[in-house]
Amino acid sequence: MKRRGVGKRRGVGKRRGVGKRRGLDARIRDAVADPVLARNVLRATDTSTAHRRAVVAERPDWEALRARAGTLRAHVLTHLDRYVETFAENARARGTRVHAALDAEEARRIVLDLVGRRDCRRILKSKSMTTEEIELGPALEAEGFFPLETDLGEYIVQLAGEPPSHITAPALHKSAEQIRDLFRREGVLEGRGDPPRDHDALAEWLSLKAREHLRPRLLDADLGITGANFLVAETGTVVLVENEGNIRFTTTTPPLQIAVVGIEKVIPRIEDLATLLPLLTRSATGQRATTYTSLLSGPLEELHVILLDAGRSALLRDEADREILRCIRCGACMNVCPVYRTVGGHAYGSAYPGPIGALVTPLLRGEAEDFELPFLSSLCGACTEVCPVGTDPHGHLLRQRGRVDERGERSLAERLAFRAWRWVMASPRRYRIAGRLARALQDPLLRAGLLAPWTRYREAPRIARRSFREHWSRHGPPSRPTP
Ligand code: SF4
Repeated sequence: MKRRGVGKRRGVGKRRGVGKRRGLDARIRDAVADPVLARNVLRATDTSTAHRRAVVAERPDWEALRARAGTLRAHVLTHLDRYVETFAENARARGTRVHAALDAEEARRIVLDLVGRRDCRRILKSKSMTTEEIELGPALEAEGFFPLETDLGEYIVQLAGEPPSHITAPALHKSAEQIRDLFRREGVLEGRGDPPRDHDALAEWLSLKAREHLRPRLLDADLGITGANFLVAETGTVVLVENEGNIRFTTTTPPLQIAVVGIEKVIPRIEDLATLLPLLTRSATGQRATTYTSLLSGPLEELHVILLDAGRSALLRDEADREILRCIRCGACMNVCPVYRTVGGHAYGSAYPGPIGALVTPLLRGEAEDFELPFLSSLCGACTEVCPVGTDPHGHLLRQRGRVDERGERSLAERLAFRAWRWVMASPRRYRIAGRLARALQDPLLRAGLLAPWTRYREAPRIARRSFREHWSRHGPPSRPTP
């Protein structure tokens, strides 16, 4: 079914993987060495976090809502087989065709069969991390099919030939000026006037021009491919939230629609959306509600839902790991993670970056390098503080690090260092002596470059000249301010 040149248009369907061509260390080095990337990521994540904080503050019941969502997600995951079955039955009763895919390969094969059978030439695709996870784009392209990404951020990274760098804001690592240059290079701005100089005005102008460019292409398509935010078991409904209206086009203009969805997205009842949607939209984009919420209960013409397992069932079997599947992909943990905010999403080499990506990637994909990902964390705990559904990324990161230890996968140097650390910390006397040694040796060690791998990208914290105990024994307790 190999097809050549079908649907290939300028800037459409460039091949992009999930950034694994270079090793993890090399990707991190590239990211840290790019000050523009760091500035763009910081600016975007700061903005998202500020918006989130403002709308969360409007809900005095936020913690109660979070607790309810956590309980709901935990309940669903404990009975997921039952809810998935109920969803499939009810969706089929409404005319939706439901497929089960054990792994990414099977999911890709189902999509390719449908695409080939219906001779689809014009394919629309909305933002979907599940299709990124199964690397559907490259698989379609390898067969000569070139889907058009309809979400603006996804369209930008598609033009750039890059994978998305954030699960809700795929192009957040690019500035408006970089996007302007990209659009110029790819012909998106041909005949559309001169861009404004002001940064904010430029961002708005670019989105309008992209809309003018994309809109005619959305009206005439054979196939629309989406993911889903939730699947409602009792009604067989596919739920999608978005801001641009592109999902509305993707799910209404083509006669054939395919939704590729992880099985953990099933929820029991339509009322559960009242709990989950406010948490999702406030955490993801700092909005009370997104502009569009689409509930597809049955096909307009032909709707296929592909339920993807790809390692999720194995996760369900472990009571602790199961909690990771509560995630509703809001992206809030990325926005507050100091590591993500420094290196952006491409460094992770996975469809899922940030704290949640560092957890699910080793468990779902499990390639050798993925087991390093849980170490991309400062363990500050900010991810757990913001998670709207109680996924506790911080606790799971620690757990996965422990597993690396249990499997004996640390280097000899690391093992010896940690053993020495434990020995020192177990005795006040040894701790005191080690403190004195560290104070005396810190400068010579730094000068000799022995800490270079650690200090290349950060400043080593200076150890105080005198320890707290020494200070206390010399000066006594601090005097209390008089009330
Ligand atoms: S782990 Fe929590 S905060 Fe992170 S993406 Fe998932 S739901 Fe959002």
